[in-house]
Amino acid sequence: MAIFKKPVIKAEGGKKKEMPRGLFQKCPGCSEVVPEIELAQNQRVCPRCEYHFAQPAKERIQNLLDPESFVEMDAGLKSVDVLRFQGMVSYKDRLKNYQESTGLLDAVISGHGTLDGSKVAIAVMDFGFLAATMGSVVGERITRTIEYGTAERCAVIIVAASGGARMYEGMLSLMQMAKTSGASLATRSQASLHFGPDKSDHGRRHGQFRVTGRRHYS
Ligand SMILES: [Zn+2]
Repeated sequence: MAIFKKPVIKAEGGKKKEMPRGLFQKCPGCSEVVPEIELAQNQRVCPRCEYHFAQPAKERIQNLLDPESFVEMDAGLKSVDVLRFQGMVSYKDRLKNYQESTGLLDAVISGHGTLDGSKVAIAVMDFGFLAATMGSVVGERITRTIEYGTAERCAVIIVAASGGARMYEGMLSLMQMAKTSGASLATRSQASLHFGPDKSDHGRRHGQFRVTGRRHYS
C-alpha cells in the first residue's frame, strides 16, 4: 500500500491546453520555436540560425513571380489509381489525404506568369504532397509547361523537389522521367532554345521514350 498518494493535477477547465497548430514551428536547426508569420516573411529561412524549411509550392510562386501575374494551367488533372494499389493505406485514400492537407490536387503546380516583366512558364513541385514523387500528373504538367514555354518562346522555370518516382503508379511513374526529358531536350532544342539539364535527368539514359495513347490521368 502506497504511503503517499500522487496528487492529480488538472488543467484549468479540465482540458489540456495545446499550442495552436500552424502558428509556430520548431526549428530543426536551433530547436527554437519560430512564429509561422516570421517564416513566411523570411522566405522560410529561420531568422535565428538560417535553417531552410521546406517551402510550399504556392508560396514559392508568390515569392518568385511578379505579384498577381501567375495563371495556373492544367489545374484539373488528377491521378488515377490504375494499379489499385493497396497497402497500409490505399493509393486512393493517400491521394485524398494529401489533397486535403495541402490544398493541391497533386505534387506540382504549373502555369505562366511574369518575372521582372518577362513572360515565363513555371512548374513548382511541393514536397509536402507525397514527397513530391513523380506520377503521371506531375510528369504531364511538367511536360506541358515545357511545351508551353517552347511554343511561347519564353523561359521555363522548374523548381524540382522530388523524392523520386511514385511507386503507387509503378511503371507509369518511371515513364514520366523519359517523357519530361524528351519534352525538354527535343522540343527546346528543335526550337533553338536553351536547355539546362538537371541532375535527375534519367530520361536520357533510358532513351527518347514518349508516353502516347492511353491517358493515365483525368
Ligand atoms: Zn533555427
